[in-house]
Amino acid sequence: MTAIFKQKLAIEGGECEINSAFPVWPTYAQDEVNAVLNVLKSGRVNYWTGDLGQKFEKQFATYFGVNYAVALANGSVALELALQVLNIGEGDEVIVTPRTFIATVSSICLKGATPIFADVDLNTQYVTAESIQACITPRTKAIIFVHLAGWPCDMKSIIKVAKDNDLKLIEDCAQAHGAEYKGKRIGAIGDIGTFSFYPGKNLGAYGDGGAIVTNNSQLAKKCRMIANHGRIEKYNHEFEGRNSRLDNLQAAVLNVKLGHLENWTSQRIKIADFYLKNLEDINEIVLPKREKWARQVYHLFVIRIKQREKLQDFLREKGIQTGIHYPIALPKLQAYSYMGKSDNNLKANQLDAELLSLPIGEHLEISQAEEVVSALREYYKQQ
Ligand SMILES: *Cc1c(COP(=O)(O)O)cnc(C)c1O
Repeated sequence: MTAIFKQKLAIEGGECEINSAFPVWPTYAQDEVNAVLNVLKSGRVNYWTGDLGQKFEKQFATYFGVNYAVALANGSVALELALQVLNIGEGDEVIVTPRTFIATVSSICLKGATPIFADVDLNTQYVTAESIQACITPRTKAIIFVHLAGWPCDMKSIIKVAKDNDLKLIEDCAQAHGAEYKGKRIGAIGDIGTFSFYPGKNLGAYGDGGAIVTNNSQLAKKCRMIANHGRIEKYNHEFEGRNSRLDNLQAAVLNVKLGHLENWTSQRIKIADFYLKNLEDINEIVLPKREKWARQVYHLFVIRIKQREKLQDFLREKGIQTGIHYPIALPKLQAYSYMGKSDNNLKANQLDAELLSLPIGEHLEISQAEEVVSALREYYKQQ
């Protein structure tokens, strides 16, 4: 069974093995390594505005069917810049889910705005139009919507709430490269979509990377300028910005990897379909719901169960590593204790004890998913 979690890395003829944690670490393919070596040999490592970054932005925008993509240093900064170019800051409130990675929420605080946690629907784990509506005040300026685990959210009602209340809509797509809502790739459904290319994401660089996508030329231009110190040309700065550029080495890797993304996504969907079909009759497991209008890209395959630790131990014994995304709802983190919301009655908190992420990734074979399924069947037979 260990084969699932040990990947052979072949680099320039040598081979090393890593024991990958969950989510699965990427393999390093020869074409990616060659792309990196070509950059090193060319001496163009730090030319962010050079052809590689631009090529990536073009390819990425085309892939998403949007007008503009701006490559950035990471997904966290992409969120911050999205808020900044939408003029969200001091005194503003931004509605967000309590069930996400901390970066979604810390970006709001770093801009001086206040995050307001809306509650989630237990079945989808997503905030709903009603829960958003309940959080709106005269200070509310935006909603950050997270397409968590690679499931696109049902955008229709969310867009309506945003429109009716004149709120900006940011989509955090860090876990959902290529997910579709009603045949449209997520990212440019709202005002701005943000992406991460952290190595463990569906599209991962060899280090950090991120991007925003938008159909608005002004927002894209402003974002690009902020990320490059407000620069018009060398040593001529229109305003103060920051350094949030994607480097050429990462752009080179991403250019190659983007070409594989569709195949990788298909493999993820294949594994997910296999789980869905073969775990359907186990009553103790609540499976992610498949939606007709959605193309789910399964960054994670998250099930809901009771007595999680016992099952996790059983699977670990069999060499099957699982994950928990996320074990602590954000309002309960020490980082947000100052808000005094840790003992709130959000339904989102209930999920802390029930979620379990099964192995998923483009490297998994059906035979390995079969082993996961049979281990789960064996476990529930004994109960
Ligand atoms: C990974 C992630 C981020 C942050 O991206 P980084 O590139 O790691 O900075 C933001 N939001 C979500 C939902 C994520 O999963």
